[in-house]
Amino acid sequence: QRLTSVNADSVERAAEAALRPKGLGEFVGQASVCDQLSLVLEAAQGRGRVPDHVLLSGPPGLGKTTLAMIIASELGSPLRLTSGPAVQHAGDLAAILSSLEEGEVLFVDEIHRMARAAEEMLYVAMEDFRVDVVVGKGPGATAIPLEIPAFTLVGATTRSGLLPAPLRDRFGFTGHLDFYSSDDLVHVLHRSAKLLGIEATARGTEEIATRSRGTPRIANRLLRRVRDWAQVRGEGIVDQKAAKAALAVYEVDMRGLDRLDRGVLEILCTRFGGGPVGLNTLAVSVGEEPETVETVAEPFLVREGFISRTPRGRIATAAAWKHLGLNPERGDNP
Ligand code: ADP
Repeated sequence: QRLTSVNADSVERAAEAALRPKGLGEFVGQASVCDQLSLVLEAAQGRGRVPDHVLLSGPPGLGKTTLAMIIASELGSPLRLTSGPAVQHAGDLAAILSSLEEGEVLFVDEIHRMARAAEEMLYVAMEDFRVDVVVGKGPGATAIPLEIPAFTLVGATTRSGLLPAPLRDRFGFTGHLDFYSSDDLVHVLHRSAKLLGIEATARGTEEIATRSRGTPRIANRLLRRVRDWAQVRGEGIVDQKAAKAALAVYEVDMRGLDRLDRGVLEILCTRFGGGPVGLNTLAVSVGEEPETVETVAEPFLVREGFISRTPRGRIATAAAWKHLGLNPERGDNP
């Protein structure tokens, strides 16, 4: 079981890698972030210095890793990839920082999940390009300052609000990635279809785009699933019929809600009468981590107007009841 899921993961990762845009010019949408970022990069290059540290925030699958890779490639610099959960001790970070090359781009995904002690080491490294290596324990411990090469940190987080202020303040540029419009996703899908040698009609890509939760990663994944359907049960072409049939198989509904999204709405309406209900209670009821519900499902549900967040908890809107085909007055239970 475990082996299969690891394999499935690496297949997904390989498929994603093949579709990653390589330069800012190929990156679809997010016009203002791209414009601001290109100024930061160009100005730094003009001055012959490393660019300011960059924080990218936004829900998963919107292109944060891709942008980090593009930053390195635009600068012609090497790139090191790591993630918050992988940096559990200050020593892990010290090892990475002290082995960086001059001008290297260090990408830390899920930076809000880094260990506290490492975070404090990072503050100094970001500001002074220095690491204080602590030798010894207790009252006799001393910190030995170690110079490290100038580098650019690119941090990614699903919500910049999760970052402690001292860390957030040390980024010279913060770009917030928003969900993509359907038009942008159509663009992404055409590009991907071309790269994968998939024949797709305009109607077919539109159908997929409107049901991809505003997320390129999901659009690309659904494209591959619709291609499977077209190949096995259709005429080999990604058209509207194939898209509709395949998305029904994969339980993606008309508005692009997937099982987790619908699970959250259903529990909110049927078990809690539409709310307000706290995040933790909601997460336990759908059998997910609170962070997953908060960063994966909620941003989209809020944007689509299905949920509103209030100080007392999450509330289902009239649109949510309608979408589920329920009636709040009757206290419906499907
Ligand atoms: P994140 O790091 O935010 O979770 P990624 O950068 O890994 O997201 O992007 C996920 C996938 O979506 C990538 O494989 C990439 O091909 C695709 N993608 C993301 N943003 C864009 C974009 N603006 N244009 C084209 N493809 C994109």
